[in-house]
Formats: sequence, C-alpha cells, structure tokens
Amino acid sequence: MTGTLTSPLPASRVLDANAVADLSQGLRGRVLTADTPGYDDARTIWNAMIDKRPAVIARCASAADVKRAVRFARETGLDIAVRGGGHNIAGSALVDGGVVIDLSPMKSVRVDPVRRIAVVEPGVTLGEFDHDAQAFGLATPVGINSTTGIAGLTLGGGFGWLSRTYGMTVDNLRSADVVTVDGELVRASERENADLFWGLRGGGGNFGIVTAFELGLHQVGPEVMAGLIVHPFNDARALLRRYREVALSAPNELAVWVVMRKAPPLPFLPPEVHGTEVVVFGVLYSGDMKAGERAVAPLRTIGKPIADVVSPHPYTGFQAAFDPLLAPGARNYWKTHDLAPLPDEALDIAIDAVKRLPGPQCEVILAQMGGAIRDTSEDATAYSGRDADWIVNVHGRWSDQAEDERCIGWARRLFTDLTPYATGNAYVNFMAHDEGDRVKTAYGTHYARLAALKQKYDPANILRTNQNIVPAA
Ligand SMILES: Cc1cc2nc3c(=O)[nH]c(=O)nc-3n(C[C@H](O)[C@H](O)[C@H](O)COP(=O)(O)OP(=O)(O)OC[C@H]3O[C@@H](n4cnc5c(N)ncnc54)[C@H](O)[C@@H]3O)c2cc1C
Repeated sequence: MTGTLTSPLPASRVLDANAVADLSQGLRGRVLTADTPGYDDARTIWNAMIDKRPAVIARCASAADVKRAVRFARETGLDIAVRGGGHNIAGSALVDGGVVIDLSPMKSVRVDPVRRIAVVEPGVTLGEFDHDAQAFGLATPVGINSTTGIAGLTLGGGFGWLSRTYGMTVDNLRSADVVTVDGELVRASERENADLFWGLRGGGGNFGIVTAFELGLHQVGPEVMAGLIVHPFNDARALLRRYREVALSAPNELAVWVVMRKAPPLPFLPPEVHGTEVVVFGVLYSGDMKAGERAVAPLRTIGKPIADVVSPHPYTGFQAAFDPLLAPGARNYWKTHDLAPLPDEALDIAIDAVKRLPGPQCEVILAQMGGAIRDTSEDATAYSGRDADWIVNVHGRWSDQAEDERCIGWARRLFTDLTPYATGNAYVNFMAHDEGDRVKTAYGTHYARLAALKQKYDPANILRTNQNIVPAA
C-alpha cells in the first residue's frame, strides 16, 4: 500500500500509509486513523472539554504491541500520548496529530490470594480491579470513582478510602513491567532498576510505558462501615470546625472526606433538600464493624444531619458510590491544593465559594490524608506531599460550553484564594492541562531527582505530553 491517509496532521507533515499498514500488521490489537470506523469513540475520554485528533490510535493488546507502537512513533517522529483509563482531567491520554498508545484493551487482573498479590494490566479500571480482588476478599488503596484507570492513578501516587489504613497506591506497588522509550521491556522493583521504581511511584508516565503493575493486597470487606452523613449548609462554619477536630484524632482505619455542593436527588434525602447546598461527610472504616461504629461515633455528635446512611455496605458498592456524580461526558476544569493544617480562614473561603457555586455539578472536596500515608518516608517514592492533612479539590463541572468561562473562573478564584494556606506541593493527577508550569513546585524537593532520572530514561523527552518532568540538562 502506498499514498497517504486522511489525517489530522498539519499539511506540512504526511502520515506514511506504509508505516501505518506495517503497524497494523505488527499489532495483535487494532490501529485506528481518522477514516477508520470507531476513531471518534477511541478519541473520546472522560473530560468532554478535551477534543484532540490523534493521527494514529494504536490499541495495544500486549507488551509486544506496546514495543511495536513505540518503534512506530520513533520511526515516524510522531508525538506519543499514553492512554490507560482515559480519566486524566488534563486530557494527556490524547495528542493532536500524534500516536496514542492506547492500553485500554489490556484488561487482565491475575490475583494470587495466597501471596496477596495482583498483577494488573494498564487498561484495568478501578471497578474492574476491585471486582477481581474482592472475589478473594482482598483490596488495595485506589481512588473513589470506579471508572478511573488504575495505570494513571498509580503512576501519580494514588489514594482513596483505604489510604489512611494502607498508604498510597504506590506504597503497595511491588514491581512494574515497563517498556522504555527505546522499546525495551524492563522490570522495576526495589531489587531491579530501583531508581526507575522510585520514579514510577509518583512521577507519572514520564519514564516509560507500564505494561503490568504488581500490587500488594489486604483483607478488606466484603462489607465495610461506610456511607454518607448529609448536613444543611447553613451550619457549615461550625460543622467544618468540629469535623477538623474529629478527623485529626480519628484512627487510621477511618477516612472522612467532605463534599460541599448542591444536593443531588438522592433517595434518602427529602425532596425539598434536592438542589440546595449541603455539607456531606463521606465515611469509610476499613476494620471490623463494631470498631467502625465506635470510630464513627464522634462524627455523629456533630450538628443535626438531614440524613445519616453510614452502615455496613459492600466495599465494591461504596467504591462506586460517587460514580453518578462523576460520570464521563461533562466538561471539567479542576484545581487542587495540598493543605496542612486547615485553618479557619481556609474553611471560610471554601464555604464562601460554595455560596457562589456556578452550577449544580460544581463542588469542593476535602480528601482526608495522613494516617498510613505517613508510614512511608517522603523520600522513599517520587510522590511528594505526605505531610498534607487534606487535599482540597475544586471541581468545576458543567455541561454547556457557554458556561466554560464562568465555571473555570469560579474554580480559579477559589484556588487563588486558598493559595496562601497551601503547602505548595500538589498531586499531579489532579492538575489541569494549563498547569505545566506548576509541575516543578508540585514535586517540591523531589523535582531535581526526577529530572535526573528523566535524563537517564528519556533524555530526548519523548514522553512529554503529560505533566512533564523536563530532563536535567
Ligand atoms: C472523576 C475522577 C475521580 C478521581 N478520583 C481520584 C482518587 O480518588 N484518587 C486518586 O488518586 N486520583 C483520582 N483521580 C485522578 C486520577 O488518578 C487521574 O486522572 C489518573 O491520571 C487517571 O488515570 P487513567 O489511567 O484513567 O488516565 P489516562 O488519562 O489514561 O492517563 C493519564 C496519564 O497517565 C500516564 N499513563 C497512563 N497509563 C500509563 C502507563 N501504563 N504507562 C505510562 N504512563 C501512563 C500518561 O501520561 C497518561 O496521559 C480522579 C480523576 C477523576 C477524573
């Protein structure tokens, strides 16, 4: 086959049809270009604000396919984007005019219940992972929205309801298989390529393409003490001050996050509350039920809730409890800060912003950190910010493009107002597409080591369409 393909490349660059045909023949997975059926579906990701047109989407079925796709990108000179679950708010799973190495077909989860290990491929979502691990009564800390990809989440650090008990996702990573930018498959662990292993645990997708994650597992569930306590927003000032005290003295097994937003039409809320601002405590206790009752009791002394549905729930169910509020297809612009401590002024600023919510899907979230996250020393992994007691996320989320400016403006203003109270570190996985300049400060003292590692594993910055660590000079 000769000639060119319809492609979103600039007119000055032509996509070599022979190279694409070779790639197609060389992969077990499918190769899509702009004129292939399924192309538009394959370039649709969680955040509807992202509308990029890759030249080639290589849907990989195996590490061998990833090696081949990397070789294709290097030979054609196309930019590379790597897609796991396609959830990243910044839209780094896609690249205009480049090649997407799409790992989403790689779905295997192999659980070894005796060794309490799972080997997980990078196309697996959190819901799929939890499903397979819970079949053996096992789990590891991952995020709170089941459609998120385990790959991007783990590489940025990863945390969720279980992190105060069992640490960050990366604290449970035992090893990873990595295809380097030279197309070599290497193993990274404490014993092999230990420097790379350090960088993978928080450094994002900067050092290679991970084709398998080996994760340690813990006995969890199948039921856990979990649920929501919903309060009227009028009481927010007093509630949050008391919440802060309760949270700071909570046992590691207990995680309590705060969500402030307009109440969705949840069946356990009276209809007159729907659409009004509320303060929600999201609760999970990872130990036994009786101890869970005792741990939650202080939270129940705060204020007069509209509803309290904290009770034994299936762990997998609670892991998906927020899915309806975080479904794919909406426009999203997020801002994030690490906070430690959480002074009154910061609480009041957040409360004021909730009074000005620009839409019914916008929200402010306080994720409680600490606990076992601090059992690992700050320098042991690339993830930085273990001193944060909370991560505050400002979620601008809406449906109509006409609302872009208003919702983005609201998120930016709250972010700016909270900046004086932030530690300076930030979780790269929550950073938006326009925060490339923030990557250096986000990693704080780890950045120089990360840049040196990037120089070793990707000196030409081939993997750069991410929250990019620039190779050290
Ligand atoms: C609704 C929602 C809820 C969230 N909740 C949480 C939460 O509770 N806890 C938490 O920790 N995070 C959370 N996140 C953030 C999440 O961790 C990031 O969005 C993460 O990047 C998602 O991973 P993914 O594989 O789905 O993303 P993708 O968009 O597919 O990938 C993101 C980037 O990661 C890199 N990457 C992905 N896979 C690989 C790989 N195999 N090898 C090399 N690089 C790779 C690439 O640079 C890629 O562009 C949430 C995000 C959303 C949108």
